[in-house]
Amino acid sequence: MFLAVQEMKVPELLAPAGDFEKLRTAIHYGADAVYLGDPRFSLRGNRTGDFVDAGLREAVLYARGRGVRTYVTANIFPHNRDLPALEEHIEFLKVVRPDAVILSDPGLFMMFRKRAPEIALHVSTQANVTNVESALFWEDLGAERLVLSRELSMEEIAEIRLKTSLELEVFVHGSICISYSGRCYISSFLASRSANMGRCTNSCRWSYALVEEKRPGDFLPVFEDDRGTYIMSSKDLCMIAHLPALVEAGVDSFKIEGRMKGINYVAGVVKTYREAIDSMQGGTYRVNPRWLRELSMFSNRGYTTAMFFGRHPDEDYNFNGGIYRMSHELVGIVLGIEGDTARVGLRNRLDRGDRVEYLSPGLEGAVFEIDSMVDEEGADVCSARNGDVVFFSVPDGVRRNDLVRRPLDRGGERK
Ligand code: SF4
Repeated sequence: MFLAVQEMKVPELLAPAGDFEKLRTAIHYGADAVYLGDPRFSLRGNRTGDFVDAGLREAVLYARGRGVRTYVTANIFPHNRDLPALEEHIEFLKVVRPDAVILSDPGLFMMFRKRAPEIALHVSTQANVTNVESALFWEDLGAERLVLSRELSMEEIAEIRLKTSLELEVFVHGSICISYSGRCYISSFLASRSANMGRCTNSCRWSYALVEEKRPGDFLPVFEDDRGTYIMSSKDLCMIAHLPALVEAGVDSFKIEGRMKGINYVAGVVKTYREAIDSMQGGTYRVNPRWLRELSMFSNRGYTTAMFFGRHPDEDYNFNGGIYRMSHELVGIVLGIEGDTARVGLRNRLDRGDRVEYLSPGLEGAVFEIDSMVDEEGADVCSARNGDVVFFSVPDGVRRNDLVRRPLDRGGERK
């Protein structure tokens, strides 16, 4: 596919950083900015505590030291009981100085404006900015950026662009809610875990049955195919084929969803969009089939352009169970390189004779056999496990922090 690209400002690539390792991975593979947050105040963040207090400070410093911007999420809908802790968090962020804070609650917005006017504020997609007046409302209040609602079409984005000078950010890749931009109580009702407090259990994707009112306990299965039903489950968003159109509509930042996803996903998706964005600067935009192959490697529910082009009668927005499998699994991370030998931290079992790939520039799709490996004591080993550190020779082009992964067959077994 070839698309003409006008003279344009190259948008930012904004990646999820669910924990420190994902932060490092996103930066390694070319993110311009990352979003992360203290789990007490952010939606869909990680729960490991990597970004509480000192960890958050360390993350901001790490990114800043590499020229990467950090946006800290504080996008829960707080109750009165949460306000004292948020006051402390604001004081903490004044010292840490992230490049912006992402939030959606108007009260919290005003708390930041009063207590920390020097901190730039981005209005979260949870605030559901869907029209020009709403955009102007936030502009008048002093916001710097809008993370637009995922329910907008390309045309609506362009209209908002014309009327406001705020930066505009949109999601270009990842899971999407079946409900309106996360305003959802399914998880709260069914699992007592509120999506609006960042604890969604993805309940919309569970398998459901039908019960007739007068026959409680008699579950009537609902089948769409032999895997069950997906009546409330959306496909995943992928806009890689339409990045120039988004630039033309006036988007400043391309956001990737997925703070809860693994480093394999973060690495592959960030690397792919980095290449795509960089290639736009050449004057024409051509979708490289390799990008599509890479994006199809991660478990996905089939891809959609969601609402960007309005509702296409021939596009099935709802997941139909057709594609939902992983074609590669993470083997490990390259911790260091000396000569042609890599020191690799394993995240999975690795056996001599296994065939692996390296997510390294120029080596995409090439498969290499592990002929031999040694452990940290220098002893030859035939097999090593998750958590072990091993040494083996790697091809030219493999770098520190690159991922090693293993192709799987259609049944999810090693090839
Ligand atoms: S249950 Fe589904 S629709 Fe609701 S917030 Fe979670 S992912 Fe979104």
